[in-house]
Amino acid sequence: AGDERIAQIQEQLKSYPNFPKKGILFWDIFSILNKPDYYRLLRDILVEEAKKISPPIECVAGLEARGFLFGPLISLELNVPFVPIRKKGKLPGNLLSVCYSKEYGPDVLEIQEGSIEHGKRVLIIDDLLATGGTMVAGCHLIKKAGANVAACLVVIELEGLKGRDAVPDNVISLIKL
Ligand code: AMP
Repeated sequence: AGDERIAQIQEQLKSYPNFPKKGILFWDIFSILNKPDYYRLLRDILVEEAKKISPPIECVAGLEARGFLFGPLISLELNVPFVPIRKKGKLPGNLLSVCYSKEYGPDVLEIQEGSIEHGKRVLIIDDLLATGGTMVAGCHLIKKAGANVAACLVVIELEGLKGRDAVPDNVISLIKL
């Protein structure tokens, strides 16, 4: 969706060199959320992208933490359930989990068993795709739950890191950096 509205949002986006550590350029999505007109615009574009997916999505899964800022907005507009994918130890009840490797070793993502009906078409959402490790783990969890990944949606894609190539499912990104 290469439209003027996306360029407007991109103009507002702030980045911080060497955060959270040296060598990382951190893209701060909250620089959009603190301006209601731009947050609304971003929500509208994300909802449009989600509505374009065919056949229609039946569930939205958000990746902790910044996927939670957008997922529920989309799920309400499309009238489908929102389900959280969280870091280990945050969700109650029976869980499904997937291990994935981060820079400093292994990490675990979890989803509540039974939170997504088998065979449902799920949209996974996060703020940003970097190496793709987080999104890949999210895709595996959805499949472990017996559901299907209809698409992976991110606001920002760091194209140079080639995360898209690592993700087994279709990636939709608004801002490519
Ligand atoms: P990755 O698993 O490498 O694709 O990293 C993606 C996850 O880490 C997302 O949940 C992002 O919120 C966060 N992230 C990674 N790199 C950045 C960055 N440069 N700026 C902001 N968030 C980032």
